[in-house]
Amino acid sequence: MKISELFNIKKAVWSFEVFPPKPTADMSVVHKTLAELAELSPDYVSVTCGAGGTGNRRTAEIARIIGSELKIEPLAHLTCINSSKEDVEKSLAELTEAGVTNILTLRGDRVPGAEESKDFKHASDLAAFVRAHGDFDLGGACYPECHPESASPEEDVENLKKKIDAGVTHLNTQLFFDNDDFYRFCDRLDKAGITVPVQAGIMPLVKKSHVDRTIGLSGAKLPGKISRMIARFYDDPDSLMAAGIAYATDQITDLLSAGARGIHLYVMNNPYVARTITGNVSSILAGINR
Ligand code: FAD
Repeated sequence: MKISELFNIKKAVWSFEVFPPKPTADMSVVHKTLAELAELSPDYVSVTCGAGGTGNRRTAEIARIIGSELKIEPLAHLTCINSSKEDVEKSLAELTEAGVTNILTLRGDRVPGAEESKDFKHASDLAAFVRAHGDFDLGGACYPECHPESASPEEDVENLKKKIDAGVTHLNTQLFFDNDDFYRFCDRLDKAGITVPVQAGIMPLVKKSHVDRTIGLSGAKLPGKISRMIARFYDDPDSLMAAGIAYATDQITDLLSAGARGIHLYVMNNPYVARTITGNVSSILAGINR
């Protein structure tokens, strides 16, 4: 099913993000992870890809397992910053063969030293290209705390409009830890007349390695409550796991209370985290979607 249609059926969509394993990884481990995630009946599972199209074949392979074998709708990420039109056509063929109809159209992060695409400058260019190349349903990325390259939150939302004009029908946010940033972002979307559904991206900070990576890469603002959690439990794995799950559960409960159209959980290929948080909010989700 197209994800845009899901939003017509459900008041709040519940989905997971996974990343493809390294080419050397044992596929049976990945298979087990995906099967455990599928048991939680998410509305869909998205699969990330490397910038420059380097991870696309693996993305297609994982998406095929999610869709054809596990019967959960896959959403394949596709980047364009280092891709030519021919590269994207090849990726679209691979994704089509894997049974993918939902694509998250992304520019991708700049890779130092890599040659940038002459064909695609922005995600909106990719969205327009993919739209013209098949009956795909398109998602796009958005940034409650503003994309770091945008001059202002208002300019960021004006550029977001171009993505929607190019054919994106739903949005997934960058991770954030302060729900007020999401609510302020929704106000900006309202003012700009953007009405497509937006899913809030929630990253449970449950491991020391996630903390280091997330803070380093995303540049997300850390409210006092989560800074205290990290400071206190950074070297205590069990407590960090429990506290990180509790923080994400609290964040999600507030977002669903405020009427968010969905939650996209960055589960970092960890079925335990996905299972525990899904269990914590399943009655709320069932009530909203009743
Ligand atoms: P764009 O929409 O092109 O935006 C980038 C910048 O350009 C912004 O400042 C924007 O305001 C501006 N801009 C956009 N359109 C225009 C325009 N027409 N004219 C002028 N300015 C414009 N990266 C990966 O490599 N692989 C992944 O799988 C992946 N998954 C992601 C999933 C989500 C939900 C999110 C939020 C991000 C993901 N990323 C991924 C990271 C993403 O690629 C980066 O954040 C990247 O820097 C921007 O991508 P974008 O698609 O938002 O780009």
